[in-house]
Amino acid sequence: MAKRDYYEVLGVERGASEDEIKKAYRRLARKYHPDVNKDDPQAEEKFKEINEAYQVLSDPQKRAAYDRFGHAGTDPGFGAGPGAGGFGDFTFEGFGDIFDMFFGSGGRRPRTGPQKGADLRYDLRIEFEDAAFGKETTIKVPRTEICSTCHGNRAKPGTPIKTCPVCNGSGQVHSVQNTMFGRFSTVRTCDRCQGEGKIIETPCPTCVGRGRVRQVRTIKITIPAGVDSGYRLRVAGEGEAGERGGPPGDLYVYITVKPHPFFKRTGNDLVIEQKISFAQAALGTVIEVPTLEGTATLKIPEGTQPGTLFRLRGKGVPYLNGGGRGDQLVRVHIDVPTKLTPAQREAIHQVAEAFGEEVGQPDKGFFGKVREAFGK
Ligand SMILES: [Zn+2]
Ligand SMILES: [Zn+2]
Repeated sequence: MAKRDYYEVLGVERGASEDEIKKAYRRLARKYHPDVNKDDPQAEEKFKEINEAYQVLSDPQKRAAYDRFGHAGTDPGFGAGPGAGGFGDFTFEGFGDIFDMFFGSGGRRPRTGPQKGADLRYDLRIEFEDAAFGKETTIKVPRTEICSTCHGNRAKPGTPIKTCPVCNGSGQVHSVQNTMFGRFSTVRTCDRCQGEGKIIETPCPTCVGRGRVRQVRTIKITIPAGVDSGYRLRVAGEGEAGERGGPPGDLYVYITVKPHPFFKRTGNDLVIEQKISFAQAALGTVIEVPTLEGTATLKIPEGTQPGTLFRLRGKGVPYLNGGGRGDQLVRVHIDVPTKLTPAQREAIHQVAEAFGEEVGQPDKGFFGKVREAFGK
């Protein structure tokens, strides 16, 4: 395939000024940059062509050679000077960074300097009562910690730690590149010290030169009174160790509360279901009901209906941020006896008689009903 004329590639006149060539190049480079034309396979070819044209036309010597001899004048080996050869196979590797800096697509900073450690999550199931009244407890958390032998400096104690000679301890390497756009200063993480700024001669034997070790740590936590499932307790500074002297992350304890055999919790109120007898409901009485702390007495007034809710004020779960407690609600159910002694049966018959109720119909039983259904 014949090479296109460089002026044509850039879309400029043969007599175009350096400035015009530069402007045309920048416009086209932006348009055909492979990063913005990922779906167009021809864009990369086009981009190379534009770059090649610009390499020649932006250099007065190469441009003069091209003007005189055409593409032959730009072939490697044409002419004697070192400037005349070799640019035919230029690459634009690393060009992306310069392009980003020039046209702006977010800075890329090397990761050096102190960095906070990661946060940790710990799931904890607690007893119903502990959620209500709070508890001090301990949990065992596996995490990364600063090595206690070398205190995180990665060197065997007593062995020298040198300042990295490549970056002079900064962990970053600055370099200046001359590009077709001018001089650009780039910063990258130092390869020699991996951004640490220090060189270790003898690694710490405990952490094998990592500066950090895995450890299971017992941590004391205080569960505040009034927590419920879904509560997240933050324990500051008990997460993973930081890097390069950065602070540790935090530990988050996610609480799940075990159900109680008979208390149900709705917010800060507790609900229990309580059976009373027909006689107690009808005549009224005082009963004992369980609470989170022992028992309490509850007055059942005369004529209490099934399903009535009684409220024991302040016997519920404490509010998380202080300021009192919820209530305990007692829902009463009438307990119908399933087995009666002859005396009890007789007594209930008398009650029914007193109310004028018909009770104790002779029971046909299951087979009786079946016989009835078949008309026998
Ligand atoms: Zn160590
Ligand atoms: Zn270095």
